Amino acid sequence: ELPPIEGRVEFKDVTFGYEEEVDILKNLNFKVEIGETIAFVGATGAGKSTIINLLTRFYDIDQGSVLIDGIDIKDVTLESLRKQIGVMMQDTFIFSGSIADNIKYGNLDASEEEVKEAAKIVYAHEFIKKMEDGYNTQVNERGSRLSAGQRQLISFARTLLSDPAILILDEATSSIDTKTEILVQKATDAVLEGRTAFVIAHRLSTIRNADRIMVIDNGEIVEVGSHDEL
Ligand code: ATP
Ligand code: MG
Repeated sequence: ELPPIEGRVEFKDVTFGYEEEVDILKNLNFKVEIGETIAFVGATGAGKSTIINLLTRFYDIDQGSVLIDGIDIKDVTLESLRKQIGVMMQDTFIFSGSIADNIKYGNLDASEEEVKEAAKIVYAHEFIKKMEDGYNTQVNERGSRLSAGQRQLISFARTLLSDPAILILDEATSSIDTKTEILVQKATDAVLEGRTAFVIAHRLSTIRNADRIMVIDNGEIVEVGSHDEL
């Protein structure tokens, strides 16, 4: 069982391949402090998602280790690990039900007030309020009635309610209108605040705001620094 974490992360001599004989990550070493935002950038196939796959233990590592608050993640239960890591992937998962239910999915014990509060923090409250039944408006799996940007804001609110110490954000590349884009940008800052975050970054604003940028190439960190330094 992983006790409640603060969010310190360390990759120690991690070498990993999906198949034997083919190393995708090569002797990766880095430490991330509590509350830091790390932006991963790099070409397609460089290994960004693979790093995330190891942190969430979608695959086990046989060379090296991943530590959270100094604890090797291979020694804890998957459930206790994953409930403390919030993952926001490009395709936001919307299920059939009300908008409120979709946000509450992050914490089934949340009150109506808490749902609304989370929506406000991520700038979703305005558009939800304008929908025909507000928070009770029904949406379906394909998230129709919701734009790509709005779906992202819903998933941000959901993540806030689940309140993970570590956050993974695979930024969407889908084009959204300028107005929603600005909201998503501000909402991203609000969600990352106070958490250790790993962002597979596509937005320049996210890269600029990151504490450190790690440039991944061919399974290695080839450059590290802030936006100004690089
Ligand atoms: P992108 O920007 O396109 O998302 P990425 O940096 O996230 O790229 P990864 O998905 O980490 O790249 O892939 C790194 C390498 O690992 C690639 O060569 C890819 O083909 C390979 N790879 C990724 N997932 C698997 C898998 N499940 N099985 C086998 N090989 C994989
Ligand atoms: Mg990827």
